Amino acid sequence: VDGVDAVDVVVVGGGIGGLANALALTQKGLRVRVLERAAEFGEVGAGLQIAPNCTRILDHWGLLDEVRSLGVLPENIVMKDAVDGSELTRLDLKDVEARYGAPYLVIHRSDLHGVLLRACRRAGVDLVTDVAVTGYEQEDGRATAIHAGGRETAPVVIAADGIHSVARPLLSDDEPVSSSYVAYRGAVPATQVEALGVSMRDVVVYVGPKCHFVQYPLRSGEMFNQVAVFESPKARAGEEDWGTPDELDHAFADTCEEVRAGLPLMWRDRWWRMFDREPIPTWVTGRIALSGDSAHAPLQYLAQGAVMAIEDAYVLSEHVAAQLAAGMGADGLDWDAALAAYGAVRPEHCRRVLTTARAWGELWHHVGDERLWRNEVMRSRDVHDYSFVDWLYGPTALTPDEEPTMFAPA
Ligand code: FAD
Repeated sequence: VDGVDAVDVVVVGGGIGGLANALALTQKGLRVRVLERAAEFGEVGAGLQIAPNCTRILDHWGLLDEVRSLGVLPENIVMKDAVDGSELTRLDLKDVEARYGAPYLVIHRSDLHGVLLRACRRAGVDLVTDVAVTGYEQEDGRATAIHAGGRETAPVVIAADGIHSVARPLLSDDEPVSSSYVAYRGAVPATQVEALGVSMRDVVVYVGPKCHFVQYPLRSGEMFNQVAVFESPKARAGEEDWGTPDELDHAFADTCEEVRAGLPLMWRDRWWRMFDREPIPTWVTGRIALSGDSAHAPLQYLAQGAVMAIEDAYVLSEHVAAQLAAGMGADGLDWDAALAAYGAVRPEHCRRVLTTARAWGELWHHVGDERLWRNEVMRSRDVHDYSFVDWLYGPTALTPDEEPTMFAPA
């Protein structure tokens, strides 16, 4: 492949993380090729919440207006108890935007993916489908992605190939960690929920005993997104047929009317087991770098998975830009320095997100007295206290020095 169509970077995987890397590096002047296993670029699933630490970057890339026009800017994130429906705490998202200088948005996954895909096309990224990478090699400062149809070699290969990454075993022998929680999703036309009296202005999260339920509007309020998550007894027992609709209904049987009213609108023909990955401290080996879920698939409780993937792309591209600014040009770029700078800051940040997401999920799912205690603690929070999210929603750190101390008082 070296020769006429040689590129500076090969990105494996064309999900949100892969496209973000391709776009960011192309904007800095590099030639990038994306290899995607699927026959078409696309995203399955429903809504995504994207916090200010992501929208700030999308703005930097010139994409925020388009993302805003496709998404919804909710007014609040409201947390409620799923059993009695009472409010526990909230984040005022106008305040959040004022504090962090970037909005909190919700958007359909395929819309965010589409924005990145169009931007990649405009920027001239070489987008290749139907290529499943099966292995990697590297020597003399160049890395190769191997696939059934041949080999793609470049100074750097970025593996953004998701939680079941083929590249990750180069750095770690861990496996995805299965939780016994299962998610049902459902994005339906807003007209279907009008009669339910749901909020079309807020993200509402009902936290309950071994279950939770999330609702928010999508597509300028034309659609309504719901996610129902619960611990599957059959998954816990190691049985094969985990997560069936009868388990869904049983898990939410004792929840409040508002939650139960939303359940019939879930897609009932497919459901997802929740997996994450153990944090690993090293994402770079030679000229191969992990990015996105391949590096740090989280449990979704902090809604930072796609956000972290976009941050990864931003951080690496800014270090590449710093190298280019040093005047060497793409051919003389000190990739080892750029990759080392990326590896010095991102794994530690994402380790915190992964471990906090696990703890946050446990707090959501408390039962009995622990649930009552959780409710008291949440109700006593000053709604203007942002110390729990400053470390997430503030500017993305480019170096370890810039990384905020967790839970530092505002
Ligand atoms: P993926 O989306 O998995 O993309 C990987 C791509 O690589 C795919 O296109 C795949 O086809 C391709 N690929 C895989 N293997 C190969 C191969 N061998 N060769 C070539 N191509 C390959 N995140 C948020 O930020 N906010 C949220 O609100 C949020 N909610 C979530 C809710 C749920 C229920 C779940 C499960 C996740 C949620 N996330 C959320 C997390 C988010 O969806 C992921 O973290 C994010 O999509 C990861 O993107 P990625 O590009 O790294 O990986």
